[in-house]
Amino acid sequence: MIVVLTGAPGAGKGTQADLIAEKLGYKKISTGDALRRQIQIGSDIGKQAQSIMAEGRLVPDSVLLGILKSELDAAGSKPVLLDGYPRNLAQAKALQDLVGTGLIKAAVHLDVDYQSLANRITGRRTCVQCGASYHVANSPARVEGVCDKCGGSLIQRPDDDAEKVKTRLQIYENDTRPILDFYRDLGLYHRVDGNSPAPKVFAELSGLLQSLGT
Ligand code: AMP
Repeated sequence: MIVVLTGAPGAGKGTQADLIAEKLGYKKISTGDALRRQIQIGSDIGKQAQSIMAEGRLVPDSVLLGILKSELDAAGSKPVLLDGYPRNLAQAKALQDLVGTGLIKAAVHLDVDYQSLANRITGRRTCVQCGASYHVANSPARVEGVCDKCGGSLIQRPDDDAEKVKTRLQIYENDTRPILDFYRDLGLYHRVDGNSPAPKVFAELSGLLQSLGT
């Protein structure tokens, strides 16, 4: 069983996906995290993806499909939450072809006002070690620059600076937003208001997932 969590960069998908994994027992698959791991180990995929990601553009669909397949294999029979895939119509169709129609239970759109997104992303700080996410104003680490969870260093991701954020939001509008209609047509679309603080968003999201019987 698969739930797709979609939304613009900065909508809080990663934070909510972590909560759903921790509290509801889902296996979170973040294609962004998987790509960053490939960069860290210096694999061919990582080398191919690095500059594309730093510019805020999308990595080729063929690369993502390979990553998706191996992550889904590793998930076994656990319910899966997809964070960051699909990001365009071709990927949405590829997912459909890969797992079949019945397995995708919902596509949840974490909807955040456009003005808040850039502020959320440029203030984000990410742990180089465990990937945990903070915000300099809204949810700072206890000690500046140090991850509360693992003690790793906090950095600004290369694609989180103001210039790259413009590109990423534009790509979201052009490439990713059309998947909302794709899932609407399949009767799988659900919207959750992502403007509230994370615990309130999580309450709505988990209520939705439970009401869907997922
Ligand atoms: P994220 O951590 O989800 O914000 O993803 C960071 C970056 O990884 C994106 O800006 C893309 O460059 C790349 N990426 C992640 N998921 C995908 C995907 N499904 N398709 C293409 N590129 C992706």
